[in-house]
Amino acid sequence: MLLPHLATLQVPDDFIRKIIRKDLRGRLDEVVTRFPPEPNGYLHIGHSKAICLNFGIAEEFGGRCVLRYDDTDPVGESLEFVQAIKEDVNWLGFEPDAVSHAADYFEAMYDFALELIEHDKAFVCSLDFETMREMRGTLTTPGRPSPDRERSREENLELFAAMRQGEVEEGALVLRAKIDMASPNLNMRDPVLYRIKRTPLHPRRGKDWCIYPTYDFAQGYADALDGVTHSLCTMEFDDHRPLYDWLLANVSLAHRPCQIEFSRLNIEYFLLSKRFLQRLVREGHVDGWDDPRMPTICGLRARGVPADAIRELCERVGVTRQEQRIELKMFNFCVRGALESRLRRAMAVIEPLKVVIVNYEGAGEVLHADWHPQQPELGAREMPFGPELYIERDDFSESPPPKYKRLVPGGLVRLRYAYIIRCDEVIKDDQGEVQELRCSYFPETKSGSDNSGMRSRGVVHWVSADEGESVEVALLEELIAEPDASGQHLESAMNPHSREICNGYAEPAVLAMPDTAFQFERLGYFTRAKPGSREFHRTVSLRDSFKTR
Ligand code: ATP
Ligand code: MG
Repeated sequence: MLLPHLATLQVPDDFIRKIIRKDLRGRLDEVVTRFPPEPNGYLHIGHSKAICLNFGIAEEFGGRCVLRYDDTDPVGESLEFVQAIKEDVNWLGFEPDAVSHAADYFEAMYDFALELIEHDKAFVCSLDFETMREMRGTLTTPGRPSPDRERSREENLELFAAMRQGEVEEGALVLRAKIDMASPNLNMRDPVLYRIKRTPLHPRRGKDWCIYPTYDFAQGYADALDGVTHSLCTMEFDDHRPLYDWLLANVSLAHRPCQIEFSRLNIEYFLLSKRFLQRLVREGHVDGWDDPRMPTICGLRARGVPADAIRELCERVGVTRQEQRIELKMFNFCVRGALESRLRRAMAVIEPLKVVIVNYEGAGEVLHADWHPQQPELGAREMPFGPELYIERDDFSESPPPKYKRLVPGGLVRLRYAYIIRCDEVIKDDQGEVQELRCSYFPETKSGSDNSGMRSRGVVHWVSADEGESVEVALLEELIAEPDASGQHLESAMNPHSREICNGYAEPAVLAMPDTAFQFERLGYFTRAKPGSREFHRTVSLRDSFKTR
């Protein structure tokens, strides 16, 4: 089921939807899809492409989508991941029509294996993995058959039962399909269907089983048992499809799903592999799976990326069989698009430089400004102005580059929502570092009532030094420094500047509001580390070229 706020999205069309439309006009009455994550990690943004596709199709065609945990390998799987996956799917805006676990089908799968043995389509093999691999042959040479290939049906049944009963040592025997050792497709050369794994215990089935089906064996049967009509998976399974079909064709089934492959979502600078993300967590490169720099769904959520930005990205990327790498720009564009009209806009200074207005008389005044220029319903706030302010350090330059639009010695600049000021004097410390700017302001240039005709170079943001609230602001960048790092050389690929902390000031109204996120004008969209906290991190900058340091 799709949540109501998604109903307005445009209905996409792609090669998979075309196939489904045709099937619904002919051989099928209903479409059933599934999203089959292995609970061995948290979901990442790549998974959301598969989620949007499977749940989206079920919704558009009045069908069903099953969330199936592909928990067929106890190594690395845990109930923590099972729980988190469900939460992330819900957060993205989808509610499964059913939830299933491949491990709940182990009995039925075992029966399918027996059926294959009965029909002389599978045999128990005693070769070790090394020998098996070596005998499998290559793309240019055929494989050689296992000496156990012609074992009798009775003996196979007996040995497979012994494997299941726990009477066989790990690694000593496997069950293999009996297909074709000369097939040009290596996946068809008598692939392994079951192996023994004594440890760890299965998180859901405990000690029930010590033999586990391989991915290839389990996938099609679990699809069939879930009633799936279209099993959508990523391109790396393209050459597994003949095996998928073979396994389904050689047992008795009322209904056979079909597999369709599509290309994975890749995004520049994002490493989308659970194995790699697991390593980042384990080795302490990040603060956990939900570190706001992680490309996991929970990390993006913590970063302040809304679910509709992720869905928008998936829709824009579309569904094809071509491998592609999406530009980071496109991701940022979708995030900004989702935040732009939603967040209140405020002023914060993250690298403060003190400005003293020498001709200002009195302690200060209160200015007013809307929270959002196009969304008056978001209301307005009060903004204290006074003789001492902070502006951004890089909004002042003594030796400005050409076309510099901000403050320079002797130059004029407008303080946003306030007055035009002129820099009269630059105060430096012993090292020559600028400490403070002495400025004069022009009372007749107040924003909203300025008839002075004075022109300034540009507009800068500011915060009252007396009444501004101190905030800690983390500027985030991607964890990986190269657009297409494969994750092999983790140390050299890591971006050492993925989190830079600044101590700055925000206008006091920001701290008084319960909002979890704001746009800080000219700096970007920022999210609070926790509700009510003084710590903010940047979700995305306002422009791709914009750097504040
Ligand atoms: P990883 O390599 O990160 O572990 P996986 O494919 O092994 O990914 P699974 O949990 O097995 O992860 O995947 C669940 C589903 O999500 C599968 O159907 C898989 O094809 C799909 N999926 C995973 N990564 C992507 C991606 N980058 N783009 C699109 N679909 C993906
Ligand atoms: Mg996997």
